[in-house]
Amino acid sequence: MSARPFCPHCQRPLPSCYCLHVPRLHNRWPVRILQHPQEAAHALGTARIAALGLSDCVLSTGTAPDAALLRLRDCVVLYPGEGSQPLSRLRSGPVTGLLFLDGTWRKSKRMLLESPALAALPRYHLESPEPSRYRIRREPRAHAISTLEAIVQSLEFLEGAPGRYAGLLSVMDMLVDEQIRHMGEDLYQRRYLKAETESPQSRHRSAESESAECSDRNPDPDAPDR
Ligand SMILES: [Zn+2]
Repeated sequence: MSARPFCPHCQRPLPSCYCLHVPRLHNRWPVRILQHPQEAAHALGTARIAALGLSDCVLSTGTAPDAALLRLRDCVVLYPGEGSQPLSRLRSGPVTGLLFLDGTWRKSKRMLLESPALAALPRYHLESPEPSRYRIRREPRAHAISTLEAIVQSLEFLEGAPGRYAGLLSVMDMLVDEQIRHMGEDLYQRRYLKAETESPQSRHRSAESESAECSDRNPDPDAPDR
């Protein structure tokens, strides 16, 4: 057991605390994140950056919405696939809460299937998500992005304010760079860029986020798990 002291906010070891770098941003559309318990154990989970930086963001851990999440009326879930509508349809209507599922592809899907409260929420998706910058988790599917990226892109799209939340992604970039430094360039190359020699496309996929970060934004929710 490590006795290293951890920051109570970002939950990183104190020497790696990133709290001072997180910009405080006022978001007009409330953000709710339901984080699978196993995802909470990931030191580099990006959802926490959103929870620290956004003025209206609740991060709950569990497999079904708790009371705090359920109190939010008119909430929609960001989840692509059958029955999911493009986010542009939401933009012209009243402000609603945006719920993001933070877990592996398999787990997010199960959360949605097994929770009637979640299953009943209207589903929306980003029409053309920007490529992921999250380089240290492996996502076998193209176009997958991290939870934080999905939140940032959704808010910027809905508010019509490109770049407004970019400061949150800078924190993510900083953590990723630090993690790569820690593991060493060799290991990083082997673990995350191995597919580069195979084909540009597979390299692209390999360097993107792992399913744990990306599952709920994947355009093909019925794809088999790894
Ligand atoms: Zn901290």
